[in-house]
Amino acid sequence: MKLNYSAIVNLLIILQFLSLDCFSLSQDFDFFYFVQQWPGSYCDTKHSCCYPKSGKPAADFGIHGLWPNYNDGSYPSNCNPDSVFDKSQISDLKSSLEKNWPTLSCPSNDGTKFWTHEWVKHGTCSESELDQREYFEAALKLKDKINLLKILNIAGIKADDGFYELDEIRKAIEEESGVSVGIECNVDSYGNSQLYQIYMCVDTSGSQFIQCPLLPRHRCGSSVQFPKF
Ligand code: 5GP
Ligand code: 5GP
Repeated sequence: MKLNYSAIVNLLIILQFLSLDCFSLSQDFDFFYFVQQWPGSYCDTKHSCCYPKSGKPAADFGIHGLWPNYNDGSYPSNCNPDSVFDKSQISDLKSSLEKNWPTLSCPSNDGTKFWTHEWVKHGTCSESELDQREYFEAALKLKDKINLLKILNIAGIKADDGFYELDEIRKAIEEESGVSVGIECNVDSYGNSQLYQIYMCVDTSGSQFIQCPLLPRHRCGSSVQFPKF
């Protein structure tokens, strides 16, 4: 077959477009969920918890993760096996991570396992926007921007084992942050619905809270327990 010059150029353009498209498909996402967990609820369930090596975390919400997501509710995961967690890139963030992103799973460790898991599963899917250092730094800055415990305390919602209306919890956070939030509960051994995780949506640069394109679907009771920690 004889190909003329313009046919070859067109073919090359198509091939380049296809390869770029494949590449961007594996990297693209629409927004992040920034997820914070209440340690009192993580620990008050059937799976027990262990405190990190640095000691009992503060009685505060801790970061669970910064998760790239698609607008239709699906999400990419484990996007780049070649991008291993490299703790030397975040050595100067370690004390801030220990404070703000503590691990509660057993057996006790210093948090590196949790951060590695979050990087490998979620962080590698937003590498088009944030490298490893930027990813952890972005999560820490987001936590700094929104003090969930303070917001709830001001609204009279305290971690005192009491029960609070889910709508009141949602209203307090939404009024202060100006954006919608998702709330996930867990169930303790008595069957109580407990405030477990708060989801907020963040733009693809990892810096601004945004209205959620889609809230995660989780069920809570209309009244939920806010356990002591
Ligand atoms: P679970 O099944 O306990 O809700 O979630 C288990 C894990 O799946 C989470 O810790 C997180 O890594 C991932 N995951 C669950 N729901 C979502 C979601 O809506 N978006 C993203 N990006 N990850 C999720
Ligand atoms: P996910 O896939 O749910 O984002 O990640 C949860 C994984 O991180 C589980 O394997 C869990 O054992 C581990 N992990 C370590 N520390 C914590 C913690 O403090 N909270 C939660 N939810 N998971 C943790």
